[in-house]
Amino acid sequence: MTKLICIVCPKGCHLEVDDNLNVTGNSCKRGEVYGKNEVTNPTRTITSTVILKNSCYTRLPVKTSLPVPKSMIFDVMAEINKIEVSAPVSCGDILLKNVLSTGSDIVACKSIK
Ligand code: SF4
Repeated sequence: MTKLICIVCPKGCHLEVDDNLNVTGNSCKRGEVYGKNEVTNPTRTITSTVILKNSCYTRLPVKTSLPVPKSMIFDVMAEINKIEVSAPVSCGDILLKNVLSTGSDIVACKSIK
């Protein structure tokens, strides 16, 4: 039995996942999906910033377009830390495609002119 707190929404339901991947304590289906994934293949969306040039700002907020395996967070962060972009940048621009073959892109979260 694994005890978890669901982080999908602010309600924070207390979940229990048994050895057969039956989830209890969830208030909605999303919590069931989260509980199963958290036990079998936990993933996270990474948010960070990268170096920004040609702007009065020095950093640009970025995130992964899809959640990546939790075990790869530090490796993905190392790739994010290599990125340097120059303004102008549009929110949603792909700065690094398919980072470490995860299927997730690193995308800009803010437009800078
Ligand atoms: S189980 Fe549903 S209601 Fe409860 S925290 Fe997760 S997403 Fe929110």
